[in-house]
Amino acid sequence: MRTPGSRQAWRPPIRWPGDRADPRIGREREVAVVVREEELRHLRRCVELAAEALSVGDEPFGSVLVSGEGKVLAEDHNRVAGGDHTRHPEFELARWSAAHLTPGERAAATVYTSGEHCPMCAAAHGWVGLGRIVYVASSAQLVSWLAELGVPEPPVRPLPVSEVAPRVVVEGPVPGLDEEVRELHRRFHRGA
Ligand SMILES: [Zn+2]
Repeated sequence: MRTPGSRQAWRPPIRWPGDRADPRIGREREVAVVVREEELRHLRRCVELAAEALSVGDEPFGSVLVSGEGKVLAEDHNRVAGGDHTRHPEFELARWSAAHLTPGERAAATVYTSGEHCPMCAAAHGWVGLGRIVYVASSAQLVSWLAELGVPEPPVRPLPVSEVAPRVVVEGPVPGLDEEVRELHRRFHRGA
């Protein structure tokens, strides 16, 4: 299940979290915006992957691992429908990176993801020494959305990444795109 219509309808946010405090101006700032546009492509792919998961009856989560040079290395979506609830995409990408990348390559890499890492995935991310995380929706947002839908609390406390892996640089949420993620979760739990 892909949603090209809604993807086209979505527009990049005018301002990112932290932009107000960003001291960069002029040409440097323009370069930073170009980087952001590239990152939005990865984030949109994460939402696509989450939609793919939903289309095969799984929870809508998707993630992309990108090298320090900006190359997409691996991607995955949630695969917990078979009963193994550790099959999160962020966990798979952490283990893939440990098997295929050097420590330096892992540190330079970025994980883009539709939803902030859960504590299990944040721990794996920290243990294998991966770099930055950019998420579309935060764990706090997901908790509030699932509470509204009447979904029982998960067996693992939804701590933010910063509580589990404090040295990892984390950015998000992404205004606008987060509403698409919210809709995917609503459809998963409401079946509409
Ligand atoms: Zn997880």
